[in-house]
Amino acid sequence: MEKGAIENYEACAKCGGMCCKKCGCDYFVSDFESMKLDYLESRLDEGRISIVAAIDFNRLPSGKLTATPILYLRARNINRDVIDLFSMKTTCASLEDNRCHYSLEDRPSGGASLIPLEFGMCYSEVDRIDELNKWIPYQKVLHRIVKRRIGMSVYAKLNEDIENVIFDLLAGNTEGVSPLEIIDLKGTIPMLTETHPEQIRNAYLRYEKSKPILLQRKKNE
Ligand code: SF4
Ligand code: SF4
Repeated sequence: MEKGAIENYEACAKCGGMCCKKCGCDYFVSDFESMKLDYLESRLDEGRISIVAAIDFNRLPSGKLTATPILYLRARNINRDVIDLFSMKTTCASLEDNRCHYSLEDRPSGGASLIPLEFGMCYSEVDRIDELNKWIPYQKVLHRIVKRRIGMSVYAKLNEDIENVIFDLLAGNTEGVSPLEIIDLKGTIPMLTETHPEQIRNAYLRYEKSKPILLQRKKNE
């Protein structure tokens, strides 16, 4: 895809970089010259990209809700790992002195295709769902990288991440997370409660157990 975004420094300066402060932007498949394992590993080694998961919720005719992870690459967020399947999003680590580390040409296409407008009316010039779906043929290689890097399957890691995110929401561990992100995450809780009841229950149990420690910590602050 040709990177045809219109940079509008005035609008972005007025807004203060809201999109980059909420989260790193998405890479499109077309941003990479190869989808081979060694090439992707070398790009991840540069330290600015994470493997993340979009959760595709689907209601089956039986009434059961399913949650399928679609793995893809995104600009890495502050304090987040190379494998960052599901977490509270933080500011993009490539936002440096209120400017993107990348030139428009080298910027992840999710950011480069965003048309900045005043009053938060920014929009993408491409269909982001179409771009996400283009990652589907490369799930196998991304699953392999997750396994190689952390020794866990995507499903095991996602279960762990979901429990941790719900625990952190309950405990108020939201430093560096934008209010918009918290609203978005809270919106997924009803669906996660259906698809991952064990992880949600575990998070609540952990929270109940740690309440006295959390209260003591608050008092000491
Ligand atoms: S693209 Fe939009 S949301 Fe992002 S910094 Fe510019 S004006 Fe703000
Ligand atoms: S890579 Fe650049 S445009 Fe994308 S979120 Fe980070 S700072 Fe913003």
